[in-house]
Amino acid sequence: MNILRVALDLPLPRLFDYLAPDSDESDIGRRVNVPFGTGSRTGVIIELVASSEYPDTKLKTVGEILRDMPALPKEWLALCEFCARYYQTPLGEVTSFALPPMLRRGKLPRMKPLPPPSAAAVGPTLPRLLAAQQHAVEAIVGTEGFQAMLLHGVTGSGKTEVYLRAIDAVLARGGQALMLVPEIALTPQLEGRVAQRFPGVHIVCANSGMADAARARGFLDAQAGRAAIVLGTRLAVFMPMPRLQLIIVDEEHDSSFKQQEGLRYSARDVAVWRAHQLNIPIVLGSATPSLETFQHAATGRYRLLDLPERAVAEAMPVVRIVDTRREKLQEGLSAALITGLQLRLARGEQSLVFLNRRGYAPVLACPPCGWVSRCQRCAANLVLHLADGRLRCHHCGFETRVPRACPDCGNVDLLPFGRGTQRLEAMLVERFPEARVLRIDRDSASTPKKWQALLATIHAGGADILVGTQMLAKGHDFPLLTLVGAVGADAALFAADFRAPERLFAQLMQVGGRSGRADLPGEVLIQTEYPDHPLYQALVQHDYVRFAQSQLDERRIAGFPPFSFQAMLRAEARTMEQSLAFLATAREAAAALADGVTLYDPVPMRLQRLMTLERGQLLVESLSRPALQAFLAAWMDKLHAQKMPGGLRWHLDVDPLEF
Ligand code: ADP
Ligand code: ZN
Ligand code: ZN
Repeated sequence: MNILRVALDLPLPRLFDYLAPDSDESDIGRRVNVPFGTGSRTGVIIELVASSEYPDTKLKTVGEILRDMPALPKEWLALCEFCARYYQTPLGEVTSFALPPMLRRGKLPRMKPLPPPSAAAVGPTLPRLLAAQQHAVEAIVGTEGFQAMLLHGVTGSGKTEVYLRAIDAVLARGGQALMLVPEIALTPQLEGRVAQRFPGVHIVCANSGMADAARARGFLDAQAGRAAIVLGTRLAVFMPMPRLQLIIVDEEHDSSFKQQEGLRYSARDVAVWRAHQLNIPIVLGSATPSLETFQHAATGRYRLLDLPERAVAEAMPVVRIVDTRREKLQEGLSAALITGLQLRLARGEQSLVFLNRRGYAPVLACPPCGWVSRCQRCAANLVLHLADGRLRCHHCGFETRVPRACPDCGNVDLLPFGRGTQRLEAMLVERFPEARVLRIDRDSASTPKKWQALLATIHAGGADILVGTQMLAKGHDFPLLTLVGAVGADAALFAADFRAPERLFAQLMQVGGRSGRADLPGEVLIQTEYPDHPLYQALVQHDYVRFAQSQLDERRIAGFPPFSFQAMLRAEARTMEQSLAFLATAREAAAALADGVTLYDPVPMRLQRLMTLERGQLLVESLSRPALQAFLAAWMDKLHAQKMPGGLRWHLDVDPLEF
């Protein structure tokens, strides 16, 4: 008897067996409608077997096998199976996530004919490569089989140019190339640059913001080999590409490659696995590689390709530390920064003030009675947004009107405490009435369209002073920008999260890298109360390597990644007692299995309450990845078999980035 084993999008770590009299091996990888409960569901056929552990009489017969699109390739199924195993997520949840929503629902988009190759199918004239670029291109193109490579070079060092040359070589051989970029960096500018370089080549974009049909079409074009280049955010790592010969992960350190809910995968890590599986090269590019990647390069596991110079501007921006300990700041700005802004205004150049906190002020308070704006659902303050007169929780989205008076004592003199981008914007408008001030953060760039419009304004020289969060840090050229001032950076120096300095360094290096391209030299001013801090000193020297080595020394001593491997079990419930009790039980269940694995104590999460749920976490750590993997598999089997108390939810996060 033919039995199909089907992956269904259910939180159960198993496949579902169905009778299928007239199916054969060629149906593996097809989508199928199956009866489930009182309704029906669409899943993916994983296996065809002769017998089931369930008696035949208990098995239902499949509904329609969807043969209207080619079966998903073996390689794609293997990729999903790896993710299911590695991230301890049911295979059906993985396949469901990896498919575009339309295909997941068992539908097909109306396909469009490919545009005819444009008449002017001649690429632009290419710049002469610098020696280091040439070396990198040759290394990538000359690689046969699997090899991970770290392309390390500051902004403007010509990394993208290297990617494009390597892609060109792949296309010449008839292959396909996959390029992954961080969420915020996938812009029409980048698409345009790639399209312009490869006229006549069908390029497919993939990101979660796309319309259903377009995303499904892109998937099918990639699978059929019609698209030679796929350019996308993290989810593009799941694009089926039968002739895939090269994977590129740009800004590989970016945290948006790690998904923070559902399938908690790292697209960068999955991409490396995929390259290994396909026996092809993969290039990880960054100015500030993640310490994991840097360590692999240091030990020789990854090949290091260095681009030590900028391709266009002669010099790196000058980075200066502004010691604010003895200075009375004007609304948070030092005299040095204000002078710098004045100078740029007089010269008709652009400046950027970088503050990684949106809103007007982090909290609104009533000093006489001690009231502060708190979220009713989370253990967090409500952030004051004066631009639209709201108080907002940045964690759960709760919002309310700014009260006219203190809800507790009726006092009308409520005070905003601290500073966000809106407040900085207001201050700059007042201080420089002649300047055009433009704020760029997730509020002002709330849709891709608004974001594009802001970028266009900046490019056209339609703004003098930009106030922005890290949104501005990634992948954009601002030819007129010559000054970057960083304020409020110190907060990350002593944060509880051991990765905070790594992130701060990358952010400051990236925003700094925005200044002084083309022929205008750039200057970066960092306001701090810790002018001698090694992180800032390394920035002054543009010395990523020194910073990375000092961080790695600290991590080695502390036993943190990349010198250990971690997983986090998180639980949420109505009360913290319930959450912690579950974690304690899970810890007991683990004790007998934990060979070579350290189990920490269950503790409340840093953001204890989110959306009225109390959250706890339990960290698991090991010096060996295989040991951790073996442990997690056995542990999850136990946890899935346990009956959970009502109202309790839990999940596992492998290689967690946030603590
Ligand atoms: P990155 O990706 O490292 O930021 P890009 O590849 O975008 O760097 O290069 C920065 C700028 O320099 C781009 O405008 C690019 O066209 C130009 N460029 C890159 N390589 C060269 C080169 N060898 N000669 C001249 N210009 C170059
Ligand atoms: Zn909230
Ligand atoms: Zn009050």
